[in-house]
Amino acid sequence: MLRLLVSGVYDVAVSEFWQQFSLLVIAAILLGILLRSRRKAAKATEDSPVKLYRPRFNQRSGTAHDQLKPNPVRHYASCHCLDAQYERAEKGAEGDEVAGPRWRELSFHTEEQDTGSEAWGALEAYIARVRADESDEFDPLTGIGWERWEQIITLPKSIGTLTSVRFVSLYGSHLVRIPPEIGDMANLEEFDPYTSRCLHWFPYEITRCPTLKRSRVSTRCLYGNYKYRPPFPRLPRDLAAFSPAVCSVCREPFTQERIYQAWISLNVATDVLPLLVHACSEKCIDGLPTPAAGYVQEPHFGGLDLKQPPPLW
Ligand SMILES: [Zn+2]
Ligand SMILES: [Zn+2]
Repeated sequence: MLRLLVSGVYDVAVSEFWQQFSLLVIAAILLGILLRSRRKAAKATEDSPVKLYRPRFNQRSGTAHDQLKPNPVRHYASCHCLDAQYERAEKGAEGDEVAGPRWRELSFHTEEQDTGSEAWGALEAYIARVRADESDEFDPLTGIGWERWEQIITLPKSIGTLTSVRFVSLYGSHLVRIPPEIGDMANLEEFDPYTSRCLHWFPYEITRCPTLKRSRVSTRCLYGNYKYRPPFPRLPRDLAAFSPAVCSVCREPFTQERIYQAWISLNVATDVLPLLVHACSEKCIDGLPTPAAGYVQEPHFGGLDLKQPPPLW
């Protein structure tokens, strides 16, 4: 009886509480949801969106759907080089003209790899293992684990010795550049640096890989990409870390003091890539192939004043 009474009093108290404060409680919940979604939206802009179109992660193309492993990437790399392409187009003074994104002069990533680190040592050891096993696959994320892989911003020159490798997976890497020695990977067929968001260009030497036929590159992370036409960093830039030992075009050693740098966009496997050329002479620059249709139609030096075709997005 006492329990019933207490429960009755309790029920009355609860229902009075609801009558008086229900609107307040609902409003508080709605406010909470609103703040949370705004925080999420802010975070999304901080971390430039790169849409993942296909569920293939670091597996080679053709892997059956039921054999796909879960996404192995813990943290995607991020930088702000190409942020302007996510700015919304603005209306002009008349209200009808639309101004594109405001680009600033871009510069290269100049981060230096800590080659004394345990992660770099593990990567070199993994490369030696792939070479010794004559493996057809180079998948450093699996080979050294994601904690070490996140500390790697370029690859050792020794990747050029991996002539048995047909499949390179750099999915979700933190790489900011790839060494020209990739051109020595004589049996490379599939190159997958998808969602490597700080990889904005590739060395011209990649065009040397004679059997390269499939690639998966995040287009909107590339200089001069057709969707937004971000600028290319202005050349020349004295970048000892990037320079190959020999001319990108004729493979002769550099005899003159000057190295001729140029940008060119070419069809490479299934993508159009912005390629950085280091040539020994103007003659080697003149001998470059015709650029991909829909891109600047000659080798160029980049910079904000470069005229590119309009974006096609
Ligand atoms: Zn960047
Ligand atoms: Zn040359």
